[in-house]
Amino acid sequence: MLGPVILAASRSDRMRRLISAAPVTKQVVDRFIPGESVDDIVPIIEQLTDRGLELTMDVVGEDITTPEQATAARDAYLALIDRLRELGLGERVEMSVKLSMFGQALDGGHELALANVRPVVEAAAAIGTTVTLDAEDHTTLDSMFAIHEELRKDFPQTGCVIQAYLFRTEADARRLAAAGSRVRLVKGAYKEPAEVAYQQKHEIDKAYVRILGTLMEGEGYPMVGSHDPRLISIAQELARRAGRKPDEYEFQMLYGIRGDEHLRLAAEGHRMRVYTAYGTDWYGYFMRRLAEKPANLRFFLRSMLSK
Ligand code: FAD
Repeated sequence: MLGPVILAASRSDRMRRLISAAPVTKQVVDRFIPGESVDDIVPIIEQLTDRGLELTMDVVGEDITTPEQATAARDAYLALIDRLRELGLGERVEMSVKLSMFGQALDGGHELALANVRPVVEAAAAIGTTVTLDAEDHTTLDSMFAIHEELRKDFPQTGCVIQAYLFRTEADARRLAAAGSRVRLVKGAYKEPAEVAYQQKHEIDKAYVRILGTLMEGEGYPMVGSHDPRLISIAQELARRAGRKPDEYEFQMLYGIRGDEHLRLAAEGHRMRVYTAYGTDWYGYFMRRLAEKPANLRFFLRSMLSK
């Protein structure tokens, strides 16, 4: 019940101001967003890669309102990629980007987002890594898939995300499960209406398994984005049945969630990639993490009240 309320609050400017200014928030936020700058995040990247994990980096931010902010988002990713080049970590660390942060919702936003994301994809390719386009709310997805297709003409390894809760996703998965494609499957983190998305957990989980079957049976590279223990063992079984070797798919989880499981899967020989977010505009990302697990909200509120 609480999840949809928190997701509605994640779109409210008033709540954004209130929560961002709360005195203890930072300490709670750090669990999911462990740094604000490239300098903060480099030690985390080094620590995780030393432990045999790979990463995908998210410079937090979304729903920007000016083209200048979109340019700043592009530059933030370019600065990170430059630092990864200096560190020689290009092949272990990829980028995740939200096109709304690159200007997708502004006037002429589709072209603007494409123009801003292309240099990031080019710079990533130059250091031996790649970019995955995150999936945001359903109204943005036709544009995201069109940008994905456009980028793949020059950079076929560019990945994208599909969300099991959307009715459209089974068809998207069939289209995307082709040779050379990289597709991350997640349950879906936005508040979506019943006209376009399953609302019940068991329906979403069943759709996740069906779609994962399509990806595993297909010719692309599936990226299993979930912390759900049941889905992780089903993924292993589907990969086995499809005859996939451990380097022919990967698991992905979020920084700050089930860290022991990251290490366990890596130790078992799986490729495990940790989605690691950093930056100052953390509100939307943080609120989605609260919505996924109401216990997080209780912890957050308790820490505020104890001050
Ligand atoms: P759940 O059933 O929600 O969780 C399973 C278990 O994981 C829970 O019981 C709990 O133990 C743990 N858990 C899950 N979430 C939390 C949390 N917030 N705090 C503490 N414990 C938790 N969504 C999008 O819409 N677009 C994207 O582009 C996108 N990218 C993602 C990238 C990655 C690598 C991952 C892992 C998720 C991404 N998501 C994205 C979020 C996703 O849609 C889900 O909201 C999120 O993963 C929770 O679903 P779950 O599969 O982990 O299953």
